[in-house]
Amino acid sequence: MRVLVTGGAGFIGSAVCRHLVLDLGDTILNFDKLTYAANPASLAEVASSPRYGFRQGDVCNAAQLKAAFESFEPDAVLHLAAETHVDRSIDSARPFVETNVMGVFTLLETVRAYLASRPALAPGFRFLHLSTDEVFGSLGDQGHFTETSPYQPSSPYSASKAAGDHLARAWGATYGLPVMVANCSNNYGPRQFPEKLVPLIILNGLEGKPLPVYGAGANVRDWLYVEDHARALGTILARGTPGETYAIGGRAERANLAVVETICDLLDDAAPRLGNTPRRDLIQFVTDRPGHDHRYAIDCSKIERELGWKPQVSFEDGLRETVRWYLDRGDWWGPLRERYDGQRLGRG
Ligand code: NAD
Repeated sequence: MRVLVTGGAGFIGSAVCRHLVLDLGDTILNFDKLTYAANPASLAEVASSPRYGFRQGDVCNAAQLKAAFESFEPDAVLHLAAETHVDRSIDSARPFVETNVMGVFTLLETVRAYLASRPALAPGFRFLHLSTDEVFGSLGDQGHFTETSPYQPSSPYSASKAAGDHLARAWGATYGLPVMVANCSNNYGPRQFPEKLVPLIILNGLEGKPLPVYGAGANVRDWLYVEDHARALGTILARGTPGETYAIGGRAERANLAVVETICDLLDDAAPRLGNTPRRDLIQFVTDRPGHDHRYAIDCSKIERELGWKPQVSFEDGLRETVRWYLDRGDWWGPLRERYDGQRLGRG
C-alpha cells in the first residue's frame, strides 16, 4: 500500500511509520509540519528505507497538500496530525481549531479533488481519521464508551477533535469518501513528548523534581501501549470497512495516582535515589485541570471481533519497557526537555 501519513513525526505517528514500513512493507510519505511536538529522531529506524519519504508541510495548507498527493499518489491516508495536549488547548485554543478542524477540512477537500481526478483509484482508496475517546466526554464509575456513544466533549482539545470527526464522517456520507474513524484511549510508550503524564513523571522522577498529580489523582484513563495502537491502525487500514468507526482501548483502566506510584516504584528499582528515598515522596497534589473528565474506558470488542485485533502488551510490561527506554535514551529527550522543562500548563 502507498500510505500518506500525516503527523508521522509525533508520538503515535512515528510508531505507525515504523510499523507500516518495517512490519507491513508499505511505502509511506510522512507529511508533517514539525511543530514543537515532533521529533525526527523518532524516525531513525525508517529514515534510510527506500519505502519511507518525508515532506514538511501543514495540513491547513491546500497547496502543500495537493503537491504531496500529486507527487506521491497514495492509495490510503492515515490522518494523525493534530494539536494534542489538553492543557495547551486550555491556554490557547486557536492552533487546535486551526489544525484539528480546518486541517481536517482542508485534507478532506484535497482527497476529494485527488480522487475526482483519478476515479480508478477511488474503489480501493481508504481515509483513516484518527480521533480520541475524549470526544465522548466523561464516564461515571460504571460503563464503557463504544462506537455509538454520544459526543460530549469537555475541553477545547476534545471539542476540536469532535468537530474533525464530524467533518470526516460528513465527507463520507455526502461525497462518498471512503472514511473510517478510530477513537482511541490514552496511549503511552517510548518517544512521547514529555508534557504528557507518563513521560513527565518519569523525567521529573529521574531528576528528583516534584511529581504533580492533578486533584486527588482519582481520574481514570484506559491505557494502551503505542505499538498496540499502531498495529490496530494498520489492521483497520487493511481490513476496515469504509463508513465504520472503531473504538480502540487497552482494557487497562488505572487511576492517575496509581500510574504515578507505579512509575515511582519502577524508577526506584531501576535507578535508586541517593539513600534509597522512595520517589513516592516527590508526589505533589496540585489544583485540578478545569473541566477534567473523571473517567474514560473503551469497550473495544468490535475491532476485536470484526478485525481480529487485540492489545498484546499488558500495562505492567509496557510501563516497565517505557521507563527503561527513557532511562536509556537521554539523547532523545534531552533536547526536548530544553524546549519544555515541565512547568504547569492549562490552569485556565
Ligand atoms: P503528537 O502531539 O505527539 O504529534 C502530533 C504530530 O502532528 C507532530 O509530529 C506535529 O508536528 C504534527 N502536526 C501538528 N500540527 C500539524 C499541522 N498543522 N500539519 C501537519 N502536521 C502537524 O500527537 P500524538 O499523541 O502522536 O497523537 C496523534 C493523533 O492521535 C492525534 O490525532 C491525536 O488526537 C490522536 N490520539 C492521541 C492519543 C494519545 O494518547 N496521545 C489518544 C487518542 C488519539
